[in-house]
Amino acid sequence: MQNRQLFLSHLAQTTDFPLMIEIERAEGVYLHGADGKRYIDLISGIGVSNIGHRHPKVIQAIQAQLDKYLHLMVYGEYIQTPQVQLAKALCDTLPAGLDNVYLVNSGSEAVEGALKLAKRHTNRREIVSCINAYHGSSHGALSVGGNEIFKRAYRPLLPGIKNIKFGDLKELVSITKGTAAIIIETVQGEAGIRIADKEYFHSLRERCDETGTLLVLDEIQTGFGRTGKFWAFQHDDIVPDMIVCAKGMGGGMPIGAFIANKDIMGSLKTNPLLGHITTFGGHPVSAAASLATIRVIQEEQLTEKVEEKAALFKKLLIHPEIKYIRNKGLMMAVEFETFEVLKPIIDTCIDMGVVTDWFLFCDNAMRIAPPLTITPSQIEEACAVIIQAIESNRK
Ligand code: PMP
Repeated sequence: MQNRQLFLSHLAQTTDFPLMIEIERAEGVYLHGADGKRYIDLISGIGVSNIGHRHPKVIQAIQAQLDKYLHLMVYGEYIQTPQVQLAKALCDTLPAGLDNVYLVNSGSEAVEGALKLAKRHTNRREIVSCINAYHGSSHGALSVGGNEIFKRAYRPLLPGIKNIKFGDLKELVSITKGTAAIIIETVQGEAGIRIADKEYFHSLRERCDETGTLLVLDEIQTGFGRTGKFWAFQHDDIVPDMIVCAKGMGGGMPIGAFIANKDIMGSLKTNPLLGHITTFGGHPVSAAASLATIRVIQEEQLTEKVEEKAALFKKLLIHPEIKYIRNKGLMMAVEFETFEVLKPIIDTCIDMGVVTDWFLFCDNAMRIAPPLTITPSQIEEACAVIIQAIESNRK
């Protein structure tokens, strides 16, 4: 059977509009199709391949670890060099207050861990999160998500969740002395790149301090250089109590983490029977890849040109059909009137060798989140294709 048929017959389907491009190989910003066609990847596997596909340093780190060991024991039992070195390298990118790392396999798992830790540490049961937030698909992560359409089918979800409006100062009063944590994306990704200002994050920090609430920042889509700083919260000059990260963290390998200080994290240990356990979390091969990824971001200074590259996209993507471009670094939403206008443009882009898509909760905006390594000439080529695709679909 052809792979396309196998895909439709035997792989669980998750969308009405699968892109269904058969990829044979990926390298840097390019995807190479089974039919020999070359694509510029403008979505990086949804914010994952920040350093490009199959970065040689990541491949090298993976290969070196393959020669040593794969899985040894549930997380946190043996001393595994890639895990401890990764934890140290992560903490070195963060303010002093964030010095203790719990390694997991994915973003959703990082969120689950953070929610449990917040309840455990504060002995409170209520969590505040934001309307239109996306924190993952597992039950806890979905419960703090902010899109009712996605949640409805799975109710009852976790009790004690309050959704507030992202970026709205007035709604911060919903955080009270009964709130264990607020979990919030530093930039809302799946809502179509929604940005709150610095003043909001400062007031949020203050409100959390007043009420003894833990401020948990979801940096799963924004971390690892995506917005032009290693972490997006560094634009806002605040220090969260906890962050959750994944996606770009593994340079293409599955890994995530929730990170707090030693005192907060210590709450997981007070009674081991009530601990938080994972078999594969911080898999040594993924941890080695992640350590190499951090080094690449630092050594190649990948955050430095992010703003310049984003500005080039914005300069080249001017067209009457484009209503608006929202961005924080290379995390961009190019807004069209409707999904019906956007979808054929995306299809034409793919035909012409540029891969892009839309957002979970914002289907009239084109997602642009290329590897940070994209060059100005690749940006020019991709934008020329997008403009041509818009033109060829104009009624
Ligand atoms: N939080 C945010 C902000 C995300 O963008 C995502 C994934 N799109 C997640 C959490 C969930 O991560 P994962 O798919 O790795 O579980």
